[in-house]
Amino acid sequence: MGTHISRTVAEGLAFMNFIGGRQVDSASGRRIDVASPSDGRVFASIPESAAEDVDRAVRSAARAFEEGPWSRMPAVERGRCLTRLGLLIEKHGDELAALESRDTGKPIRQGRADVVATMRYYEFYGGAGDKIHGDTIPFLPGYTALTLREPHGVVAGIIPWNYPMQILARVAGAALAMGNTLVVKPAEDASLTTIRIAELAHEAGVPEGVFNVITGYGRDAGAALSAHPAVDYVTFTGSTLTGTAIQQAAAVNNRGVTMELGGKSPQIVFSDADLDAAMPVLVNAIIQNGGQTCSAGSRILVQREVYATVAAGLAERFSKLVAGPHDADLDLGPLINRRQQERVAGMVAAAEEAGIEALARGSVAADAPSGGYYFAPALFGSVDPAKAIAQEEVFGPVLAVTPFDDEADAIRIANGTDFGLVAGVWTRDGGRQHRVAKRVRAGQVFVNGYGAGGGIELPFGGFKKSGHGREKGFEALYDMSATKTIVFNHG
Ligand code: ADP
Repeated sequence: MGTHISRTVAEGLAFMNFIGGRQVDSASGRRIDVASPSDGRVFASIPESAAEDVDRAVRSAARAFEEGPWSRMPAVERGRCLTRLGLLIEKHGDELAALESRDTGKPIRQGRADVVATMRYYEFYGGAGDKIHGDTIPFLPGYTALTLREPHGVVAGIIPWNYPMQILARVAGAALAMGNTLVVKPAEDASLTTIRIAELAHEAGVPEGVFNVITGYGRDAGAALSAHPAVDYVTFTGSTLTGTAIQQAAAVNNRGVTMELGGKSPQIVFSDADLDAAMPVLVNAIIQNGGQTCSAGSRILVQREVYATVAAGLAERFSKLVAGPHDADLDLGPLINRRQQERVAGMVAAAEEAGIEALARGSVAADAPSGGYYFAPALFGSVDPAKAIAQEEVFGPVLAVTPFDDEADAIRIANGTDFGLVAGVWTRDGGRQHRVAKRVRAGQVFVNGYGAGGGIELPFGGFKKSGHGREKGFEALYDMSATKTIVFNHG
């Protein structure tokens, strides 16, 4: 108990929930096996929490919010705890990168990059919470009106498995900076670093009950958390379908939500673009994390004059891509689980059956363990934008290339899906850069570059089915707080 950690049990590393500053097992004692996607072998286990455990964690967070000191502490002091947490993450960087990489299958260099970004989030929000303030509002004579930014109370964070550490950091950094307390439900496929970071937060001085973690399945623990009456705000990153379920659950209590959902993000390449600069970015934007990134650049729209050149360049690069185990640190790792591997394979097979031109395929390393969930990257060309492979989120290393004629055509195709998360625009024409960036419906637009998920400082979120609310940057602090207006009648 307490912060001393001793997890080794016969079946592997036994991780616990973190509630009220302590490691605790689920009430039922039931556990979920944790396998590495690289070989399918079980190496750890997490509690299979249910409604009773959720209730315990939410009550712990509610008590911590009511009793303080966290919610009433000067923002600068909360910020210092977050800054210390960032430094502890840096200190434990090798351990966290290795754990994240083994748990998710991502190449170890991506695990290390995730640690750097995670550290940056706590550094950013450690310094931001005391720099946000309200307004004084000109009102009637004899009155003074002002606004305060107040924490919501208990924030529930439901986290996906693709970038667990980073997504936890953007949620926890902003929520804690504003004085909320937290209950986090990481994904059943990747919970380990979340538990570890809650422990480090405790070590950094975040008081008991402020940062709670319960692991378990979405349908049990996740659903119970979203619908819990003592949860004041819900923030979710994950699939659009699950986002709808969580919003419905939160609506029972009329709670506010931030939803960061799916994407089918286009990169638009005009004929005057610097193709040499664009090409590696176009590939990386879909290959990073095996394409399991909500903001992955999964569609390339290319002006017809340069279509053949771009398609050939992408095909050459795709044919050289190799997937392998996380510790081999190749171009990409395995997918997260068998279900995801089968889903991606099914969507690629359907595209092939529909007669869509397969331009190139990458490969899986010959010595990759047979129990791993590997998928060779797939590139499709001349894709009709109405086809499923150009409309639906694959969440795998699959890229659809579509030609277009002119600017209007490009914008129409770019905006022609249900999603609106990120877009890339490649052109040297300054006027066009501005026009297209404004017309494309996406929460982030990169001109002559692309950052899949990049930028701690940059507000991030979607239009349409990609969600609502904004994370990252200063904007997240507004989502993680509510305005209170106070009016003084002083005559
Ligand atoms: P996937 O389908 O790939 O598992 P999800 O978007 O469903 O992706 O999962 C993201 C997170 O949402 C995970 O933590 C998962 O446990 C959780 N989750 C899944 N279903 C629900 C649900 N009905 N209610 C609340 N949380 C859920």
